[in-house]
This record gives sequence, structure tokens and C-alpha cells, in this order.
Amino acid sequence: MEKALFLQDLKELNIKNKNVIDLYNEISLLAMKYAGDIGDTKGKSNAYYLSMEFLMGRSFYNNLMELGVLEETKQILADKGLDVNVFEEIEDAALGNGGLGRLAACFLDSAAGLGLPLHGYGIRYKYGLFKQAIKNGFQVELPDDWQRFGDPWSVRREDEKRQIEYADMTVTAVPYDMPVFGKRINYLRLWQAEGSAEAETISQYLYPADDTEEGKLLRLRQEYFFSAAAIGELIDRYVKSYGKKFDKFPELNSIQLNDTHPVIVIAEFIRVLTKTYRLSFSQALNIARHTFNYTNHTVLPEALECWKEEYVRKILPDVSDVLTKIAVFADREFLKLGCSKEQALGMAIFKGGNFYMANLAVFVAKNVNGVAALHTQILKTNLFATAHRFYPDKFQNKTNGITHRRWLELCNKELSALIDETVGVGWRSDISQLSGLNGFTQDTVDKFREVKRVKKQQLLNYIAEKEGVSIPANFTVFAQVKRLHEYKRQLMTVFAVLELYYSIKSGSLGNMHPSLFIFGAKSAPSYKRAKTIIKFINEVADKINSDESTNSVLKVVFVRNYNVSYAEKIVAGADVSLQVSTAGLEASGTGNMKFMMNGAVTCGTMDGANIEIVERAGLENNYIFGATVEEIAKLKLNGYKPMEYLTDFAKNAVETLIDGTFSDGGTGSFKELYDSLLASDNADNYYVLRDLDDYFKTLVKICEDYADKDGFARKQLKNVANSAYFSSDRTIKEYAKEIWNI
Ligand SMILES: *Cc1c(COP(=O)(O)O)cnc(C)c1O
Repeated sequence: MEKALFLQDLKELNIKNKNVIDLYNEISLLAMKYAGDIGDTKGKSNAYYLSMEFLMGRSFYNNLMELGVLEETKQILADKGLDVNVFEEIEDAALGNGGLGRLAACFLDSAAGLGLPLHGYGIRYKYGLFKQAIKNGFQVELPDDWQRFGDPWSVRREDEKRQIEYADMTVTAVPYDMPVFGKRINYLRLWQAEGSAEAETISQYLYPADDTEEGKLLRLRQEYFFSAAAIGELIDRYVKSYGKKFDKFPELNSIQLNDTHPVIVIAEFIRVLTKTYRLSFSQALNIARHTFNYTNHTVLPEALECWKEEYVRKILPDVSDVLTKIAVFADREFLKLGCSKEQALGMAIFKGGNFYMANLAVFVAKNVNGVAALHTQILKTNLFATAHRFYPDKFQNKTNGITHRRWLELCNKELSALIDETVGVGWRSDISQLSGLNGFTQDTVDKFREVKRVKKQQLLNYIAEKEGVSIPANFTVFAQVKRLHEYKRQLMTVFAVLELYYSIKSGSLGNMHPSLFIFGAKSAPSYKRAKTIIKFINEVADKINSDESTNSVLKVVFVRNYNVSYAEKIVAGADVSLQVSTAGLEASGTGNMKFMMNGAVTCGTMDGANIEIVERAGLENNYIFGATVEEIAKLKLNGYKPMEYLTDFAKNAVETLIDGTFSDGGTGSFKELYDSLLASDNADNYYVLRDLDDYFKTLVKICEDYADKDGFARKQLKNVANSAYFSSDRTIKEYAKEIWNI
């Protein structure tokens, strides 16, 4: 960064009569002008991250911070009478859904921060994840037209566009490069589809509905579109420098496949090597087997993609041929390894007319990883047990992380300053130094409590302004913010909150410390039951907030349009992080890490990275409850009967779904939700009732403990002090060393 030149130009910038969007563009372009060039990729190993999602969040503040000019920019603008916070009006580019896309963004940030060459490839969606409005308590989806603010942080590379061929059309893929700033500058390259109206639909929407054949074909086109563009470019780049022998390709290019969405690239790679460069199939496959790595993010069956052969053949006949060849080759190898028929079938890439993309990824990838210790264990013993038996060396764990630059330095300047004061500034570049906080004194506890108070006040002010709900700052803040999914069990939290409410009303919960429950969640547009849960949360919030007999001690708020920018405020202001997924189903979670790093205690189940969080911060400084993976397995085996777990007390809360306490707007959806818990044969799939009573008691315990303000702050500080492991700097160092060799 040519800092002096940037600051000089900024001082000379005329801000009169310019609106916020224009100023945002001008200042961003100025920073881009002096930021420096993207680092060279030539002559050494680079790693590439292929992902359907990149949930980058707002670029403005983060980029200026990474470029080392944020504070001076604030000052210069303030001198001109402009508050830098006005740029909060610029919305996030939400080119992702949730954790998986945010992880990709954190990884890019950490790699650049550490000076490691890792670059991203994805799709430049015209519309990102919908903007959420709430009408009558129901979720309403509005288009996210993020480009209306301009896109000053990207550069269109007209000269590097490529043609992508489908059987029925040719589409132009035009790259937009977004620099990722740090110790070196890497790039995120997002492809935009052009050429015809039909072509343009390919990069129009993030996850278009895929409940029809047309929808499924579009999804397949998208996955092929960006991954074929990416691999085509990497192959061209290689051939230019090293010619048509591909023996050095794997050494120079490590490709990480983020979940199954980009896995089709494996077949495309082999197609190009065999068709264009005349390698034999087995040579090409062998090179692929040293180039690709696969990260699994979920064990939920609906997220493990499989493609009908008929569909693939229809739009990508040559790719379909390659897939079939790989499948046949794999079957032969399985036999050679001595697999039984049944084992081979389990690992089969092609069966029943479908290609199984996770099986393909596991077969070809050099390394396969899960995203938390428990999750990797489940992959080895369950989902990919057979593959693990025959290919044990492929499997490894890479526990997720979050970039401490955005999730601590940027979102919590106050806590960062306290850490500087306590252990020195070294932690900012070497996060392991955060552990120096462990020996904190009473003075640090006092200062930490003041920081928490300030961050909480900022959050509550923001909520009052955005949601119109005002909450006094003496409330304990509990937060459950994440995508809405039944396995994440927001419903269980609502029931527990209702139990608190009825306890307060009946006087059985004497002196409860005032508590606020924050929910933030988007539901997939076609996921009916999740949408019902959003409606239910809003109904409960309305009732509780308007009850004057309790609302001095209990409030509930559903924050609309939860996104990265909202998350930055919530994690900094919260006291308690609610991470209550059914054990075995949350692969890792990263929200849990953001809260921990900002000093919220975890109230959660033994699931995902929660296990590693309490391992490091201490069980005594967090609140663990509920069934373990083993206990859930036992219940499943012996026939789980949710009714047996329904205490009289919990019954009150659950029955509000059907007793007329709340209205579902005449849709019948509350009754359906109730039946899903109690009335169906296969009731309560996510064990809400199994864990509810335990959850409620745990919340009561937290409220009691919170009365000891110093004691509680100590628990929170212990979480901050032991959160270094969850910086994605640590995760990326592990990938770089153990998978990518960069
Ligand atoms: C971190 C983050 C997530 C992931 O949260 P989990 O609790 O791990 O599911 C989702 N959405 C946003 C906006 C995030 O910042």
C-alpha cells in the first residue's frame, strides 16, 4: 500500500454534495489504486479454494483495516465532518448462505494475512442470499441487489474471459477479481455468465430452487460453470509455463473442494487432459488423485449431492462419460483391495442411475477432511466408514476457525485494546499470544466488564434503532444466530424461553436476572417447517415483550436479515452463546468460535467444535447439557419416544402450538409443527424433547451464576484467553502444511 499517497488524495477529496454511495465508491477506488498488485503465482505451489459460496461481508472497513489505513481514514473523514459509520448503509455482498461460505471468506483472509498463496474461485451472483423482511411474523424474501452500490473492490478482467460449453449452449465466463489484502495480496476470482439471456441465468441467483428438473439442471450448470472456468484457467496457465506434460501439475496446484458442489471439476479436469492433451485416462486420473482435496461439511443426507446420469448426459455428455469411466475404474480398484460386494456398493460412484458426488470426491481426493474432531470421527466411523477402512491415510481433521482480524480486531476494537494493554500487541500477528491473558488480574476483570458493557450498549442501541425494541443494558444477553434449521434447534430455545416465561409468571423462579434472548435466522425459501419456526419465534417475542408483568426481566427479539455485519455486533455484545444442535449433526459451527473469542460463554451440546471449545476454555467456564452422540445413537436404536421426556412443565410450552395461545395466521402450520414432535411415527427427529428439560435447567443455572458478576466475567475472559486455537490462522497453517504443501 502506498499509504502516504492514499492519505494525501483522501485529504484532497471533495465530499460536498456527494451521496454515501458515491463516496463509498470513490474512497474504495482510491484504496484500490494504491493498494498494490496481486501477488505472483508463478514458479511455486499455490492452493485454490473452489466454493459455491463466499460470504465476504462488508469489504470497506475490513479492507481499510487490512491496508493499515482505517484509523487515519476515520480521522480524515471526521475532519471533513463525515462519520465513517455512514458506510454501514452499504450492504454486504451476501454471496453465500451461512457457515460454509463464511468459512471460505475467513480462509482467504487468514491466508493473505499469513502471506500464503491461496486463491478463491466462485460465482459472481447477480443476486446474493435474499434480504429478509418480517411481515406479520412471517419471513418475506426480497432480492439482494448488492451491485446497486457499485462493486469498487472488484476488477473485471475482460481479457481473461473463457468459453464454457454445454451440449445446448456456449456461455462466456467473465472473471471479476477481488483482491484479498494481508501480508500478501491474493485474489478471489468470481465468474459471471454472459452471452445471452439464457446464459446469464447461470450466475443470476445463489441456490435457485431445485425442486424441478429445470431447477436441478440449472444448479448443475452453475456448479460446472465456475469449476470448469477455474480448472480451465489453471490448466492453461500451467501449459504456458511447463508444456503439455502434467507431471508437475499437482506439485504446483493444490485444489480444495469446499463440499460437494465443485466436485464435478474432477471429471472436467480428466476430460480436458484426455481430450485436449491426449493423456491416457489412467494418467489423467492419477494426476487428479494428487491434485484434489475434499472437505466434507455435513453428514445430513440432503446435502450430499447426487446427480441423475440422465441430467448430466443431457447437458454435459463428455463429462458424463468421464464420470462413468471413473466409476468403473473405482469398482475395479475396490475389488482389487478385497472389498465385499456390499462394501463396494457403499463406496460406488455410480448406482441406481445416479452419480454420487461425495463418493467420487472421497475416491479421487488425495486428502479428505472433516471440520471438527467429532465430525471427522463420525466420517471415519459412519458416513465414510468403508472408505476409511480401505483408504485410511486419506482422512484427516481440520477443525474450522474464524479470522480474528474481522471477528475481534475489527468488530471489537475495545476488547482488542484491552488485550494489547494486557499482553502486548503481538497477538494481532501471532494469535497464539492470546493465551497470555490466562493469568489475568482483578484489574483486567474490571476492565473486561467495562468493555462488555460498552459493546452490549452498542448492540442494544443498534437493535433499538433497527428492530424498534428497547432493552436496558443490565440484561444478560443470550444469542442464537445462525441459519434456521431443525437440527440447530431454535425451536428448543423458544420452548425453553416459554418455560422461563411461565416460571416467572407463576413466581416459581424468584429473582431472575433480567435476560434477553436474541434470535437471528434466515430460512431457505422452500423450507416450510423452518419458516413456521420463524413465525413461532416472532409470536412468542410479541407476547413476552408486551407482557408488563414480566418484561422487566425477560425479553425476546428476532433480528431481521441476520448477516455478517449484524453478526459482528451481536458476537461482541453477547454474554451467552447458544449452540444447541442435536449431537452429531453440527459438523463444526463457526458462530460458536466468534462468540467465544469475544468473551461469551457457550451454552450448548457436546457437538461440533463446542467439544473443542470447552476442552480449551474449561467445562467449568461453559454450560454443557443434553444427550451425547452415543446417547442419541442408543435412543435411535431402542426406539425414541419423545412423549416420555415431556415434563408437565415443558408440556405447557409445547402445547402453546395448539392451544390457541398463538396464531399461525390460519395456516395450520403450528399444528403440523406440533405433530412433527409428538404425533408422527417418526416423531421429533432432532430430539428436541429429549434435551428440553436439561436445557431449561441449564438456562436457569446461568441466570443464577450471572448474579456473581465478577465470577461470570472470569468465565468469559477464560474463553477469550483460550480462543487462539479457533483463529483460522491456525486452521490455514494446518491446511498449508498437511494438505497443500504451500
Ligand atoms: C458465522 C456465520 C454463520 C455460521 O454460524 P453457525 O452458528 O456456525 O451456523 C452464519 N451466518 C453468518 C452471517 C455468519 O457470520
